Amino acid sequence: MRMQLFIIYVIMIAASASFSYAKDINSHHLKASFKSQKTSPVAHHGQLSVDGTFIRDVKKEVISLAGVSLFWSNTGWGQERFYNSEAIASFAKDWKAGIIRIAMGAQGTGSYLEKRKANLDRVTSVIDAAIANEIYVIVDWHSHQAEQNLDAAIEFFTFIAERYGNTPNLIYEIYNEPLNDISWELIVKPYSETIINAIRKIDPNNLIIVGTPSWSQDVDLAADNPILDQHNLLYALHFYAASHKNELREKAEYAISKGLPLIISEWGTVSSDGDGFMDEESTLEWLRFIRKNNLTHLNWAVSDKNEAASILTKGADSSGPWRPQDLTSSGKFVQKIIREW
Ligand code: CA
Repeated sequence: MRMQLFIIYVIMIAASASFSYAKDINSHHLKASFKSQKTSPVAHHGQLSVDGTFIRDVKKEVISLAGVSLFWSNTGWGQERFYNSEAIASFAKDWKAGIIRIAMGAQGTGSYLEKRKANLDRVTSVIDAAIANEIYVIVDWHSHQAEQNLDAAIEFFTFIAERYGNTPNLIYEIYNEPLNDISWELIVKPYSETIINAIRKIDPNNLIIVGTPSWSQDVDLAADNPILDQHNLLYALHFYAASHKNELREKAEYAISKGLPLIISEWGTVSSDGDGFMDEESTLEWLRFIRKNNLTHLNWAVSDKNEAASILTKGADSSGPWRPQDLTSSGKFVQKIIREW
């Protein structure tokens, strides 16, 4: 009897702990006005489309997904070890992530340009795992100067569209973060139109994310001069909470007011260099903004590199599921956000 009472007591403590976290999230007005993120989201939501500034599911309901971004896939950078099916299953099942992002390294040593097969094998294993776990997957061409290797980008996205364009899981992201001095009008927009046309020859409908100048922050420039005569496009807005605050949200609000559909395909709790300290207060500000606008968001990054943005501690297992001691402060915070989304 005493044992039974003790067990009930423990259950009550556990329930109140999880309730107090939920209360904290609600007190910050983060609670969704829509249904929370489902497990096996692709089974529930199916083929996505863009309507105005919203992503809608196959039943035309507005959806907002939360997930994580893998780190650069480059061979030899150390974080390519998380490109495996068990790790993806851990994020889908244990973290309840609705979406995952592949950062296909398209510059630097060991990138797709140097080590094509190894990078492709990693990318396809993650896409296959996302399909098996019924979550959405963004395939991102992770480059800051993608226009310099246009042919490689066309070749890559043609391959991906041919192989996966008929699955509802796939979302293309064609240019991670153009540098600040790369013109939207003269370079990023024409590059994007070329890649979109190559994809659309094969895949008429899956979502395509377009990068914006200044590390995917200048969504105002895209809003003033958007890509026309295309559908199911989203524009990338990236933020790092310790560096970017109201000024960037004002740009985003301007873009949304002009009807530009945004996706936060990469964000960090820390500074824009991926390091520094975790800014919880600014992150909560951003999450309120994300909730208000029904945006989809993915945290950077699945990594055990020694920098504050990493969600895993040094030497954490490659496949998970990860224990609390395997998570950094940012990792613990982000895991709660995703599980509660
Ligand atoms: Ca398709």
